Amino acid sequence: PEPQVPRDPSKKTLVILGTGWGSVSLLKKLDTENYNVVVISPRNYFLFTPLLPSCTTGLIEHRSIMEPIRSICRSKKGPVTFYEAEASSVDVNHKIVKIRDNSDIRGVTTETEVPYDMLVVGVGAENATFGIPGVRENSCFLKEIGDAQQIRKKIMDCVETAAFKDQPEAEIDRLLHMVVVGGGPTGVEFAGELRDFFEDDIRKLIPDIADRFRVTLIEALPNVLPSFSKQLIEYTESTFKEEEITIHTKTMVKKVTDKTVEAEASKPDGTKERIVFPYGLLVWATGNTLRPLVRDMMASIPAQKDSRRGLAVNEYLVVQGARDIWAVGDCAVAGYAPTAQVASQEGTFLARLFNNMAKTAELEDRIQTLSSSLNLKPGVDSASVSREIEDTERKLQRIKDIKPFHYSHQGSLAYIGSEKAVADVSWFNGNVASGGTMTYYFWRSAYLSMVFSTRNRLLVLNDWFKSKLFGRDISRE
Ligand code: FAD
Ligand code: NAD
Repeated sequence: PEPQVPRDPSKKTLVILGTGWGSVSLLKKLDTENYNVVVISPRNYFLFTPLLPSCTTGLIEHRSIMEPIRSICRSKKGPVTFYEAEASSVDVNHKIVKIRDNSDIRGVTTETEVPYDMLVVGVGAENATFGIPGVRENSCFLKEIGDAQQIRKKIMDCVETAAFKDQPEAEIDRLLHMVVVGGGPTGVEFAGELRDFFEDDIRKLIPDIADRFRVTLIEALPNVLPSFSKQLIEYTESTFKEEEITIHTKTMVKKVTDKTVEAEASKPDGTKERIVFPYGLLVWATGNTLRPLVRDMMASIPAQKDSRRGLAVNEYLVVQGARDIWAVGDCAVAGYAPTAQVASQEGTFLARLFNNMAKTAELEDRIQTLSSSLNLKPGVDSASVSREIEDTERKLQRIKDIKPFHYSHQGSLAYIGSEKAVADVSWFNGNVASGGTMTYYFWRSAYLSMVFSTRNRLLVLNDWFKSKLFGRDISRE
């Protein structure tokens, strides 16, 4: 099929895959007048993931942390084309992306091709299940808006079913047992939000079953939040004890059925114990794995054969072994953790790089025009033209001296329930670790300042006030 990209032939076509932290940070800072910019993603909005756990209980309404990509595109100086589609494959040799409309409503054309001169891959990652039987069929994940909505619905379904007339005792206990697998920040934050929901709202509204509610967090490693400092790990574990969230560390989930989680716990004497946890809701938060698109790209580029966790990039975020392809965020391996902080700094770096590349091309053209006027046109003031050439060359040199990408870690923050948070923050070249209610206010203000737009900020503030005043809305949609 004919390419549908409305392109200015004098400019290069820059195709950006994804509308997450990496791609949107790039788009935000990119001078879109320099390129034919095409954004492709199955999600027509940016999602502020740090507040996603709060959507699972209705503390924050999901639309408050979504920003439509169309309004981001409209705010740019140069035009940006957006296609709501999934990139299904990339032909790195012919520089073509194949895209597919996977949404519920499809037109006559559902698949087509988009050619590129430059490609940025920012497609993020998928949920890891490590092939453990039953996980995909029976658990909820917590990565996208749909996941948070599903969890919110399921929590209330479990509660209402537990409150059903003549429900046997053992069934009430099962339904009100919420199991979280994975003690990374996602699992910990979700467990904290869940406990708050029960204490703040369910206990008041459905007191007869409230004492039966339990949250269990299962983690394979010896402690939760492995990336935080030791004192914050201890603080989190003791706060969870107060909140009556049971933590099972050194416990590896091996199998999941529709009503039970089967795990193997390592005991201090080195022996293993099999534990079966009956559950009503299971949330699986064991980190990331590669998206099929990224796996296929890695297989088609020989230089990527030793990379396991994503597209290996160099210090300028260029995909190694590929021509004119860059990668950002969770799908790129640049030696940093898969976080929003890293993805957004990488996106901003690429915007600067591409803005500079466009300026470089412009200055090189100018030098060429000036040099030819010097040689060909009689009567030009050759001294002044030579001076201008020298000035332009100096400017060009300055622009060409782009430093490689350097990640600057601002710190890690996590909410742990009961209006407490933990923070490992870089402060004047040192590290400050703090946990508690003050840190919670810091956590709230930091994220409030970081949400995408003023509109999002007002919506989030409004949700917080609304929940404080009237409680969370427990209606099951
Ligand atoms: P994403 O933000 O996941 O975006 C990927 C984009 O690619 C999406 O728009 C997706 O729809 C699109 N896409 C997928 N497949 C295709 C395809 N085939 N073609 C085209 N587009 C595609 N990090 C922090 O630093 N701080 C936090 O507090 C924090 N909290 C988090 C809380 C939760 C619940 C979760 C799940 C993550 C959190 N993270 C946090 C991690 C952070 O969200 C990720 O590291 C970040 O989203 C990675 O950005 P990305 O751009 O690589 O991917
Ligand atoms: P993660 O990779 O940080 O943690 C997953 C945990 O699951 C690991 O501790 C692992 O040991 C455990 N696990 C794996 N398999 C298991 C099994 N079979 N049984 C029991 N436990 C098992 O994953 P995440 O929490 O989803 O975070 C993903 C990324 O997003 C990380 O880089 C994280 O830093 C970032 N993130 C940050 C924040 C924040 O800063 N507040 C919040 C959420 C996510």
